[in-house]
Amino acid sequence: MLPAPTTVLNPTAAHDQLCWLNGAFVPLATATVPVLDRGFIFGDGVYEVVPVYARAPFRWPEHRARLRRSLAKLRITDPMDNDQWASLVEALVTQHPWSDQFVYLQVTRGVAKRDHAFPDPAVQPTVFAMTSPLTLPSEDLRRRGAHAVSLPDERWLHCDIKSIALLGNVLARQAAVDAGAVECVMYRDGMLTEGSSSNLWVVRDGAVLAPPRDHRILEGIRYGLISELCAADGIPFMVRPILRSEVESADELLMSSATKEILPITQLDGRPVGHGEQSGKPGPIGQRLHAGYQRAKTQA
Ligand code: PMP
Repeated sequence: MLPAPTTVLNPTAAHDQLCWLNGAFVPLATATVPVLDRGFIFGDGVYEVVPVYARAPFRWPEHRARLRRSLAKLRITDPMDNDQWASLVEALVTQHPWSDQFVYLQVTRGVAKRDHAFPDPAVQPTVFAMTSPLTLPSEDLRRRGAHAVSLPDERWLHCDIKSIALLGNVLARQAAVDAGAVECVMYRDGMLTEGSSSNLWVVRDGAVLAPPRDHRILEGIRYGLISELCAADGIPFMVRPILRSEVESADELLMSSATKEILPITQLDGRPVGHGEQSGKPGPIGQRLHAGYQRAKTQA
């Protein structure tokens, strides 16, 4: 089992932060893994980002289930059971001073002589977890909406796995930053996929359109949540391939992730999103979903 939580840290002393590494809490600033860790050598591992509100992990069972699925798809042995994962997250949250946090969990295949094939026999997976203060989009960004740029989706075809091998996402995000944008809108074969680190949603004629949950996107934990929020609020929710032309003529465009929640995209490639009075402004469906999300946080 996990060590008992110690004292709560000084909120101003970042160097005091603790992380979990292979069975113990150690100072984050000095925690190290061996250079032959397959996470370092091959990006051979998976991760999760779990938002924590008022010290309670939000949608934890869903995050835990996705972690298990990602591990299974890479045939990495799940190093802990449900209770142990839950205890680890709780202990990490307890030991840090912030009310709202985001917990980062990572498992790699472990340390082994460099060879692309899996080590045989299997080695002990490396387990790492840390937490940070959760900084949500500012009121100003929420009022103005985010800017985004279109990009071809040049990533691999297992985007459903929450892999730590994120170079395609890193390059896409940097292209967005270079263009002065918050996120990118990616297309594969002319169809919308997702952003570099968020799912994307198109609003047309009062309905929310969602790209199919297949190997081309990561199924965000907010994917299921947004479909529930739509059902609860009487907003039609349709899962189907979405053409680039439908994105470019959308009434509203939304992004979602653990750290952005549900955020409107109001400018795409320098052009305002939406029509008429609404053009370039956050729209009503996005605002209803944001309000529903805030309610879900307090009910969790
Ligand atoms: N797609 C990608 C590529 C992501 O990195 C993320 C954020 N982890 C998401 C979608 C959204 O997932 P979630 O809602 O679980 O944060």
